[in-house]
Order: sequence, then C-alpha cells, then structure tokens
Amino acid sequence: MFEIEKLLRENIKKLVPYSSARDEFKGEAAVFLDANENSFGSPLPRNYNRYPDPLQWKLKEKIAQIKGVPPQHIFLGNGSDECIDIAYRAFCNPAEDNVVLCPPTYGMYEVSARINDVKVRTVKLTEDFQLDLPGIEAATDEHTKLIFLCTPNNPTGNSMDRSAIEAILNNFDGIVVIDEAYINFARHRSFIPELTEYPNLVVLQTLSKAWGLAALRVGMAFSSIPVIEVFNKIKPPYNINQASQELALQALENINAVNSWTKAIVEERGKLEQALVQLPFVLKIYPSEANFLLVKTTDAVKIYNYLVGKGIIVRDRSKVELCEGCLRITVGTPEENRQLVECLSAF
Ligand SMILES: *Cc1c(COP(=O)(O)O)cnc(C)c1O
Repeated sequence: MFEIEKLLRENIKKLVPYSSARDEFKGEAAVFLDANENSFGSPLPRNYNRYPDPLQWKLKEKIAQIKGVPPQHIFLGNGSDECIDIAYRAFCNPAEDNVVLCPPTYGMYEVSARINDVKVRTVKLTEDFQLDLPGIEAATDEHTKLIFLCTPNNPTGNSMDRSAIEAILNNFDGIVVIDEAYINFARHRSFIPELTEYPNLVVLQTLSKAWGLAALRVGMAFSSIPVIEVFNKIKPPYNINQASQELALQALENINAVNSWTKAIVEERGKLEQALVQLPFVLKIYPSEANFLLVKTTDAVKIYNYLVGKGIIVRDRSKVELCEGCLRITVGTPEENRQLVECLSAF
C-alpha cells in the first residue's frame, strides 16, 4: 500500500512553505503594494513588472484539456529536469536512501541523484534494451524511494514493454517515475490514464521535444494529488516565469501544427533510417519510437569528428554502456537529413 507519509523525508513533512504576496492575497484589486514590484512598469513593450502566478493555473487548465487530467494532478517544472530534482528532494534522505536506474538512459537521473547525495543502484537494460525485472527486484530494498523508467528511452529510442512497467507498478511501493519525454513520437499509449490506479506513479512529459519549446523550459509532472501537493510545497515560488507561461499557453493553441510536425518527423525518421542503413560503416540502426536514431557504426569517434568538420553535430554515445560504437542522431528537416546523408556517403 502506498502511503505518502511513509515515503516523505521528515524535513519535508514538517516544512512550512514560503508564502508569497500572491499566496496571501489572490483576488482582484485596483492597487497592489504588497510585493515590492516596480509599479511604474517594465522597460519593455510589454509589462513584466508583476510576479507571475506561482501555480500557473491558466497554463495547467489548458494542459488539462489536452491531456485529459484535472489541473490539480499537474505540476509544472522549469523543464522536466526540475521535476526530477524535486522528486529526489521530496523523498530521498541524503546519504541514506537510494534510487534504481536502468542505464543506458537519460543522464540527469544520475546527476540529480549525485547532487542530492542519493545512492544510485544501476540495473543495466538487457541486450535488447528492455527492463531486467529480476535485477530491479534484487536491487530494491527498504531505502529505495524512487525508480526511474524512460519510455521511449533516451538514448536507445525504444519503448519498454508495458507489462514489465506494470509489474514494477504492482510490486514497488516507492515512487515510480515514468519519463515520457518522447511520447508524441511513440506508438504506445501514455501511462497518464494509469494515474487513477497508482497513487505512487509520476509521469513526466515536456514541451521541449515534440512541442518545439526547449528554450521556454516547461516540464510537466502528472501524479496523484498528495504527490503534486508535496512538489508544490518544495518548488521555488515562481519557478515558471511569466514569459514562459504566456508563450506556452499560446503555443498550446497550435496543437494541429505540432501534430503535423510530429507526423512529418516520424516519416523522416523512417527515410533517414533507410538511407543510413545502406552505408558500409553502419552496423545497425536500433528501432526508434523517438525523434532520433541510435546508430551503431564501425568507428563512432572518427565519424563524429568528420561530421563536426562538415558543420554537422550529432551525439557521440560510444562511451555509454551497451552503446559501443553508437552515435545518436536527431531527426532533422528533410534538407538537414539530406545534407547529413550526403556527407556520410562521402566518408
Ligand atoms: C530531453 C529530455 C528531457 C528534458 O526535458 P526538459 O523538459 O527540457 O528538462 C527529459 N527526459 C528525457 C528522457 C529527455 O531526453
């Protein structure tokens, strides 16, 4: 049974959160002299002199419509990276608790654990990049507060078997974080509907990838109300700035454009794969459900440096466990992909 009280750190349980001016008076008024803002305005065409809504309700209501989740189940972070950090700070006692990670996967889970002095237990993915369930079970003990799963996974590009994730959700009483940064490009369904079944589930999504808003830094965590309330208590009061809130809201009105780009990226991914697989130094292209391809080559470093010389930057993942010889290549526009293939054909 999940009981958030048992998982939370003592200091977080006892924490009295910062109460901002906008927490203490929320209504309409003619004159606001409570937050030490500059009442004259901003030296900009638009006014940014007032602090933004700390809980970003307008933006959350729009996200709620799109995702089919009530806004009280949504937390917004300064990128998903902030959501990852806050999960550690809420649940993991430094130098005492641990997290289970399944590499090769997104690097921030480990970096954020180390920053928070949380012990990292790694259980490698299998050769076909799936979860090693017996390994995960063996690595888990009473100090394991979090398990991070990434599907589709970065840098491997594949989705995890749904039944394996469900087995973890059914057997682990700590927090299970499922990072769905690439869900828009995947065939599998989101785990968001599973939130009603599992109060210990946190689903992460982001506006940085398919939505094309990496610079705005808006990450989303969906979870049960007790978890969201704890995240809200810990976060910096104004973690999503006014410009990001406004622009994200505006962008979310253009869902059709994003859906057609996503379709185009998935098509381009297929074309790029077909072109790359013909090259003699390409040994393997792993099946991808994301907006990138993991490509196994005979000499990743040489190819990487050659491409840098041509002004094309890909990601060298050849030093990563299970990714020997691999480059991670983001799917670009048709023209960018054409340039890449042309350069590689001359290598
Ligand atoms: C890119 C990426 C993120 C980053 O998200 P931000 O919202 O930009 O911080 C999170 N998780 C994975 C797996 C990613 O690849």
